[in-house]
Parts: sequence; C-alpha cells; structure tokens
Amino acid sequence: MKYIILVGDGMGDLPIAELGFRTPLEAADTPTIDKLCRHGELFRLQTIPVNMQPGSDIANLSLLGYEPQKFYTGRAPLEAASMGIELGEGETAYRCNLVTLKKNNPDSLIMVDFSAGHIPTTESGILINGLQEKLGADLFRFYPGISYRHLMIYKNNLSDLITVPPHDYIGKDVTVFWKRYLQYPDLRLMLESACTILENHPVNKRRLQNGEPVANGIWLWGEGRAPTMPTIETQFGLQGSMISAVDLLKGIGVYGGLDIINVEGATGYLDTNYEGKATAALEALAHRDFVFVHVEAPDEAGHQGNISDKIQAIEDFDSRIVKPIWEGLKSMNHSPEFRLVVCMDHYTPISMRTHSGHPVPVILYDSRQQAPQSGLNFSEKNGEKTGILLNSGLEFFNKLLQKDGKLP
Ligand SMILES: [Zn+2]
Repeated sequence: MKYIILVGDGMGDLPIAELGFRTPLEAADTPTIDKLCRHGELFRLQTIPVNMQPGSDIANLSLLGYEPQKFYTGRAPLEAASMGIELGEGETAYRCNLVTLKKNNPDSLIMVDFSAGHIPTTESGILINGLQEKLGADLFRFYPGISYRHLMIYKNNLSDLITVPPHDYIGKDVTVFWKRYLQYPDLRLMLESACTILENHPVNKRRLQNGEPVANGIWLWGEGRAPTMPTIETQFGLQGSMISAVDLLKGIGVYGGLDIINVEGATGYLDTNYEGKATAALEALAHRDFVFVHVEAPDEAGHQGNISDKIQAIEDFDSRIVKPIWEGLKSMNHSPEFRLVVCMDHYTPISMRTHSGHPVPVILYDSRQQAPQSGLNFSEKNGEKTGILLNSGLEFFNKLLQKDGKLP
C-alpha cells in the first residue's frame, strides 16, 4: 500500500464578495480534486490545536501524525535542521528575516515589508554573510537561507523574550516589539550594528537606486531549541520522502526521518517547478511507501491579499500536482493500491492576509474504493457539511494508515 499526502499550503479561505461570496477554492477550476473528493472520503481536521499559533510548522506536524503540543519547540529549530545546522546544548535558533523598516521618529518604527520586497537570494546572501563577518562570533552566528528567510543562532536562551512574526504586522507600528529585543544588551548592540551595516551596504544602495525595497533591518522570531521527535518510521513503521521548497517543511522531514528530495526550480511561489515536484513524487513512490508533497504558492498569495494569484495557485495545484500524481499512481508498474490525501495545512484568508485556526477540509481517496463516497466537490463549506471532525494529527494519521480499525 502506498500513502500520499498532497498539501496546498494556505489554500483555505472565507467567502469573498468579489467572488460572489465564494472562496478562492470554490471559484477555482479544480476538476481532478473534485473528482477525488466525490469518490473519496471528505472530513475536517483540526490541524492547529487549541491555544497554539496557526502556523505552517504546527499544522504540517499534525498532517504528519505528530501532536504539536508534545513535540513543537519553535519554527527556527526546524529550519536549522533543513539547513544542516546543528543546535548545541542550550542554544536557541531564530528565524532571521531581512525586512524593510521605516523609522518615523525614535518612538515609531513601521514594518514596511516582511520580505524586503522578496529580495533575491543572490543579494540577501551577501548581506547575511556580511553580518556574519562583522557580528558573527561566540554569541551570534548568522546563516544565509533563501530570499528573505535566514537563520541566527544565539548561544544562550532568552526564555522570556516573546517575538512576533513580521508578516502579521505589514504596514503597522512595531516599536513595542522592537523594544523587547533592546532590553537585552547583547541583542541591542547586535541589532543596532546590524541596521547600520545594512543601511550602508552597497547592495541596498543599488536597491534604493532601482526603486526596490531596501533590506535595512533584521527581524528575529520563531525561536526555539532543538526538538526531540521520534521518526515517522519509529511511530508508524513507514519510510517516506518529503518534497517541498520551504525550509520549514524540509526541517520537519529531517526530524521525521524522511528523505528530503530537493527539486530544481522549486521556489515556493507561483513560478515553482510543479512538474518537477510531481515527477519526483512518483519516482520516490517507486521505492518508498509514503510521500508528502507540499506546495507553498497559495499561502504566499493569501499573505499578499491577491485573489487572482490565489485562484491561479489552486488551479495549478490541481492540474500540475494532483492530476499528474493521481494518473501516475494509476499507471504505475504493478499498479499498487494507494490511499491519497489532498488537503491544506491551514487557511490563509485573503481578508486577513495571515493564517487562521479553522479546521481544514481533507480528502482521503482509496484506490480500492469504486463506490462514490462524499459525492461532494472539495470546499470549506462541504467539509463542514459532512459533520466529521478529527481533532488531532495522530487521529488523522491513524485513519490514513487504517490503524483506527476502520476498514474501507
Ligand atoms: Zn502554511
């Protein structure tokens, strides 16, 4: 038996007036997903446990059968794992975004752009290496990542420093949060030096000339120490692969003991290499029983508040990921039986431009099932209509593996 989970990150949404009060998922043309849904089971899953932040880290841990309450220690340690960075005893990892800040006056700092205009990796790498050169020593270590997403390791642990994700404060005053960092002399010195280095850096001079947002600040968040997580093989006896462009997902895959498959041209945006991901998934299934494919584009469109991009991302997910993988499975040698999941990890509503904790609709299609099951097309509303709600990732994974005792 083969098990496949296909995730359209942030695909879920709320009814939008411009779409006739449909959601982007309802408005998008998704013939393959709807067919799988009509001929499969449809239910909802609470991927975000109550009292936990609605993040991709927590939601995807749930989709991999982990209980985040037990295993989650923060986003940055997972990203560190995907970058192959060892976290020492007592060390804390921080996500380090390159951001665009505007200082109106000493007491007003505005978060202009959480991604410094989606700065290209070629430029951001130079900036982060510059910070490592000038400021990286015993206390702080900087590691360049992709585009605006980088990592900083702090030797100690500031247990009472509460940070916030910059993408939750787009265009807003973030002075109060910035001042939280400044309470710590080491951090204050480092941050003020970092801003000076960035402001005067030739890369930013050039961006300014080109009218592009400057990366004149770093924003630290998602902190944590190394988690202790049992692998998926230990928990469920399953060996598998992880396919995603996003460090966070690769990091979860590393701690889960999955093979991390890097696909050339996988960007995390609308221009990602969908075909490459679908092919890699089918190749992995030739020698593994489990594959997890994650597509980031719908979430990015949700954060941008861009309705047409979100619909495009969902339609691409349907026609360039779900369709080829389903057809590939059906025509695989020895035509193995399979259980295929199509879902999202959380909602990223266009109206909110950030994640929400709504339970998500999930399709579970079993290749042995000929009789139609839900008979419904895939949507948030239809998921709710079924009245079936799974409350944890563990419950979901046991259902996928039929360890819930329920046969098809
Ligand atoms: Zn997500």
